[in-house]
Amino acid sequence: MTDASLPRPVTIITGASRGIGAAIAERLAADGHDLVITYRDRAADADAVARRCTDSGARVLVLQVDLADLDAAATVVPSAVDAFGRVTGLVNNAGITGRIGPFLDVPLEEAEAVFRINVLSPLIITRAAIEHMATDRGGVGGSIVNISSGAAKSGAPNTYIPYAMSKAALNALTTGASKEFGPVGVRVNTVSPGTTRTEIHAAAGRPDAPDERAPGIPMRRPGEPHEIAGAVAYLLSDDASYTSGADIRVAGGN
Ligand code: NDP
Repeated sequence: MTDASLPRPVTIITGASRGIGAAIAERLAADGHDLVITYRDRAADADAVARRCTDSGARVLVLQVDLADLDAAATVVPSAVDAFGRVTGLVNNAGITGRIGPFLDVPLEEAEAVFRINVLSPLIITRAAIEHMATDRGGVGGSIVNISSGAAKSGAPNTYIPYAMSKAALNALTTGASKEFGPVGVRVNTVSPGTTRTEIHAAAGRPDAPDERAPGIPMRRPGEPHEIAGAVAYLLSDDASYTSGADIRVAGGN
C-alpha cells in the first residue's frame, strides 16, 4: 500500500494486456498507483485491463508499442512523462520465449527477436527511466522491477536456451544498475517467476506446459499471475525501501 498523504506513484508496466503484466497492473491500481501500460497487438485486452484499473481509482495511459522496434521502445518513458509529469516505477515485464525446441534448431532471427524484446528494449526503457528518476539529474528516485525467469539459472536445456540467456542478461541489468544507481535513489530488483499459467506457453508451442510441469514443482502446481504480482507490488512499495539488487523467486519451491 502507499501513503495517502504522498503524491500517487506513477508506474510503467510493459506487456500488461494479459498474463502476469495484467495481474501486476490490477494489483498496483488497487495499491494506489497511476499506470502506463503497454501492449503489442491485443488492444481490446489492454483496454479491458485499463478499465479494471480505472475502476480501482487509477489513472491509466495505454500505449501500443512493439518492443521488437527499439525506436518505439524509446518513446515509452517520454510518453509517460508527458501524460503524468513524472514516473516513479517501471516494471520490465513484456517478454517472449521463442518456440520450444532443441538449441541447434533455433533460427537466429528468433533468437534476435528474443533479445530485442527481453533485453534491448528493457535496456532502453530502463536507461530513460533512470535518467528521469536519478536524484543527481533532478529526479526524486524510483523503483524498477525486472521480470526474469527461473530459466536464467536452469538454462532451459531442450526448451529455450536463448530465452534463458536473455533472462540471465536481465538479471545482470538488475545487479549492475542496482549498484550503479543506488547512490542516486533508484532501486532495481528482479522477480523470477516459475511456471505460471498464462498464454506464453501456447505461444511457445506447448499450451499445456503449466500442468505438464506441475509434478516437478515442489508445490505440485503452476503459479497464477496474481501470485507473481504480489512480489512486484512489494518491491515497488515503501516496505522495500532498503531492498535493491534482490531476486525474489516465486516458483512454488523451485
Ligand atoms: P504473456 O505471453 O501471457 O503476455 C505477454 C505480454 O507481453 C502481453 O501483454 C503482450 O502483448 C506483450 N508482448 C509480447 N510481445 C511483445 C512485443 N514484441 N512488444 C510489446 N509487447 C509484447 O506472457 P506472461 O505473462 O507469461 O509473461 C510475462 C513475463 O513473465 C515475461 O517476461 C516472461 O518471460 C516472464 N515469465 C513467465 C513465466 C510463465 O510461466 N508464464 C515464467 C517465468 C517468467 P499482446 O497481448 O498485445 O500480445
